[in-house]
Amino acid sequence: MNLILMGLPGAGKGTQAEKINEQYNIPHISTGDMFRLAIKEGTDLGKEAKAFMDQGALVPDEVTVGIVKERLGKADCANGFLLDGFPRTIAQAEALEAILTELNQTIDHVIHVDVPEENLVERLTGRRVCPTCGTTYHVMYNPPAKEGICDKDGSALIQRDDDKPDTVKKRLAVNIEQTKPLLDFYQGKGYLTTVNGDQEIDDVFRDIQATLEA
Ligand SMILES: [Zn+2]
Repeated sequence: MNLILMGLPGAGKGTQAEKINEQYNIPHISTGDMFRLAIKEGTDLGKEAKAFMDQGALVPDEVTVGIVKERLGKADCANGFLLDGFPRTIAQAEALEAILTELNQTIDHVIHVDVPEENLVERLTGRRVCPTCGTTYHVMYNPPAKEGICDKDGSALIQRDDDKPDTVKKRLAVNIEQTKPLLDFYQGKGYLTTVNGDQEIDDVFRDIQATLEA
């Protein structure tokens, strides 16, 4: 079963990826992990990618696509894979189709975990951090016993700049703009299923399973 998981930051994609991995025993392949592995194994592409990353530059598509191809050709992908964070562009999506054709495979499902933007803002801005011990809390999902105070050491919790509403909204806007053409692309190919991500974790997973087992 070859899957692509899509969703905005805060939509709970990572949690669902773990559940899919456990249930169906297919590797969860995130772009970050894939790069780290290629660099660790010292493949030619890994070395190329590292050179770009060391300069703080974006890794070009041909290198990224090469790394994806190496990864999908590994033995643990024999029964399928779950791609997370790739493809990010139409060019990458087309390159992925070419890779899969070479491997005699196709995409089975593209699952889009959909959460309304305003709920994502609420989820993403709710994080609070203890400046003393680094413990993270969430005002709704994981609040400290006493509002604004670390349970462990009594320090006043802070909100990181990355978690402030303006930054969060900008990050989401960039992601939405980037994701929209891809969703349209996969919709057009008939691969796309949108799952309501604005429910309990197990209910989201139940909806995903219903799609995978239909
Ligand atoms: Zn603390």
